[in-house]
Parts: sequence; structure tokens; C-alpha cells
Amino acid sequence: MDKTNDLALCARDRAHLWHPYSSSVAHMPLFAVASASGVRLKLDDGRELVDGMASWWCVIHGYNHPVLNAAIEEQLRDMAHVMFGGLTHAPAVRLAEKLVEITPDGLDLVFFADSGSVAVEVALKMAIQYWHSLGLPGKRRFVALRNGYHGDTLHAMSVCDPVTGMHTLFNGVLPQQLFVSAPAAGFNVPVAQADLRELEQILAEHADELAGLVLEPVVQGAGGMRFYSPDYLRAARTLCDRYQVLLIADEIATGFGRTGKLFACEHAAIAPDILCLGKALTGGYMTLAATLTTHRVATAIGAGEPGVFMHGPTFMANPMACAVSLASIDLLLQSPWQARVAQIEAGLRTGLAPCVDMPQVADVRVLGAIGVVELVHPVDMQRVQPLFVEQGVWVRPFGSLVYLMPPFVIGEDDLATLTEAVCAVVGRLDVEGGFCVPGV
Ligand SMILES: *Cc1c(COP(=O)(O)O)cnc(C)c1O
Repeated sequence: MDKTNDLALCARDRAHLWHPYSSSVAHMPLFAVASASGVRLKLDDGRELVDGMASWWCVIHGYNHPVLNAAIEEQLRDMAHVMFGGLTHAPAVRLAEKLVEITPDGLDLVFFADSGSVAVEVALKMAIQYWHSLGLPGKRRFVALRNGYHGDTLHAMSVCDPVTGMHTLFNGVLPQQLFVSAPAAGFNVPVAQADLRELEQILAEHADELAGLVLEPVVQGAGGMRFYSPDYLRAARTLCDRYQVLLIADEIATGFGRTGKLFACEHAAIAPDILCLGKALTGGYMTLAATLTTHRVATAIGAGEPGVFMHGPTFMANPMACAVSLASIDLLLQSPWQARVAQIEAGLRTGLAPCVDMPQVADVRVLGAIGVVELVHPVDMQRVQPLFVEQGVWVRPFGSLVYLMPPFVIGEDDLATLTEAVCAVVGRLDVEGGFCVPGV
């Protein structure tokens, strides 16, 4: 397809479509993709971009993977979908068994949902129903970490960071939750005693109204791309037990190897009471999420009123999504993924090092297959996005964060292309977040 068609497609898009966090009035740059394979996106105009985003952390094995394609094609021959009320099927059963096997101990029951936000809603409802069943209906609020991100539906939003989660805009609509400071920044930075005291105080003071503590273990994603000490997570586990509050770990972003462990909870060797999975679950092929919990929580819900867990998505446990998830997990576990993530970590460290001393850069941090360049000021997406495309890469910053989260299968050269592009584009920004070179 030629460039004219590409422009025509984008113009037609703009006439009718919303994009994530977009306006139908002030348009942001838009690029039409014709196909994707391995770590490359092919644009309609023929340009190829090395993908640094894994389509929002999901595509761990790269695009158009023959094994994942085959899993969907095979499942399609049996059935694309069947309702999950009163019916079951092998892909759902096998995937549930697999998830129970690979996640932290004690998480033995699986609820499939259709997106990460819904998995979080399900987790919050499980916690509320758990306490309700135990005769403690007052325990229905949540405490969350500042800088957290847990999804875009209303109750999930209520546990997102109150500032970046735009709680003022939805003031009066969102349930009022409690927040504690984000833990001291840095994976290897010792946990701050003040952070633990703050957490303990809020748990102690509000124990009679708190259903759960919600957090992203070790890596806070879309709320600021922050890393924190596994010791904090370990302490949070202890404190939740002490004050009778459920620990809800949202591993939608961190799950399936991204931080260097299969699940980020493993850094602290803890198991939450409720675990949310999504994003890379299907290898980025389809939308599917899961909420796992313990027999203790599930049994209490079953024994209470109304005796059932009150949720049931229409597309619950979609067979094709389950089949591709199984194939993706097998592919991951059979691959040398730890070595690959370690190689990516090393490549990101060296490749992003030139940014460290730039005055427009506030911080450079790397953990597992996550590389972050935090700028002093937010970037101007209107100008930065096309610059990355000119460099032959797909990198999509948000706010003042330019980050890389490539598919695990990326080779050394492609990774270098990504980090060089980040250094080049960041290098052209001035300290105010504009550009040093006029007209660029
Ligand atoms: C992306 C994300 C969600 C929301 O998932 P969706 O599939 O976009 O609804 C929730 N929590 C975390 C940590 C995420 O990264």
C-alpha cells in the first residue's frame, strides 16, 4: 500500500474512532500498520519499525509466531467460543491447571475475565464478598499505593494513583479509597522504615473497614514506571496478615517473566491472597485475564450469602484465548527466558547509559526487560512520536517517561537500534522538554 492510502486510512480513522486516551478534536500522530512479524511492525507505507513496546507489555514472543498462530487455528477447528455458564472445555481446564501450577503456592482457584481491568474488578469484588461472607460487611474499602495503576473501569480507577488516575475529574463517582506513599524508589534501595510505619498505621487504624491492600508487586507500571524493594512487599504480606486485610497483587504488567522472575511476587517469596494476571497471558494475541485466589477465600464466599461469586462475563474463558495462552506459557517455559531477559537487561543498561548524564534526564533505571528514561519534563508527543518513527523504532512515551519493554525474543542488534533511538531522540530534547534543534 502506498503513502496516499496510509493517509487516507488515518483520515478515515479520525472521522470515527477513539484511540486510547485520545481526543476526537486535537489529533495526535497516527500510523497505520499493515502487518507485524517477530519484533517488527510494518507500516502501510512500507516502513518497518523495531518494536520497543511489545504492544503494551504483552507480545513477549514477538508477532505472528507460528506456534501461537497454530494454537488458535487448531482451536478454531473445534470451536471459537461457547458460553462458560454450565459448560466447560479442555482449554479452560488445562490453562487453569497450568496457572495454578506456575503461580505462587496457595492460589488454587481461577476466575477468567476478558481484560485486566475486569480482573481487578473481580479481585475487589472477591475481597468484598469474602468479608461479607464472614459476617464483616463493613470491610469493603481498599488501601493502595500512590503511583499505582490498576485499570480504567470505575472501581479499578478508584485504587489507581489519585493524581494520575484523575480522581478529581470523577470526584463523587469513584469510591473513596485510602492511599499510602509509594515505597522508596529503587529495587536495590533498602525499604524505608517510614514507608512501613505509614502502611502499618493505616492498616491498624482502618482494619475494620479494609477489605484489601492492592498493589503492583516490585514494579509500578503505568502509574510511573517505578521499582521498589521486594522487602517492602514481604513486609506488606506480614502486615496484611497481622491486621486481617487481604493482599491483592496486580501482576497484569509484571507477570510472565518481565521483571526477571516468572512473577514479581517471587522476588519476595510471598503469595498474595488474590492475584490478577493479564497482558502477556496470551502472548499478546487476544484479550484474556485471570484472577486467582486461595481455597480460604473461595470457600468462605461459597459458604456465605448468596453462596455464589457474583460475576460472569459473556466471553468468560474464551476457548481460543485459553488455547493461545497455554501455547504461550509452554513456549515461554521451554525457552531460555531467564537468559534472554538477563541479556535484555544488560543491553538496556549499556544502551541507555548515555542518557544518564543528560541534563534533560532525571533518572535512568533498568530491571529485567524494562528500561526507563525519566525526563525532567513531559515530552511533547506531537513532535516526539514521529521522531521515533523516523529512527525506525516504535517507542511510545507517556508523560515524562520514555521506556522500552521489548519482546523477549529481540536480538542484540535490534535492541541496540532501540536504545540508540532513545538516546538520539532524548538527546535532542532540551531541558524544558522542547527541542534543541529548531524545526526538528
Ligand atoms: C494494563 C494494566 C491493567 C489493566 O488491564 P487492561 O487489560 O488494559 O484492562 C491493570 N493493572 C495493571 C498493573 C496493568 O498494567
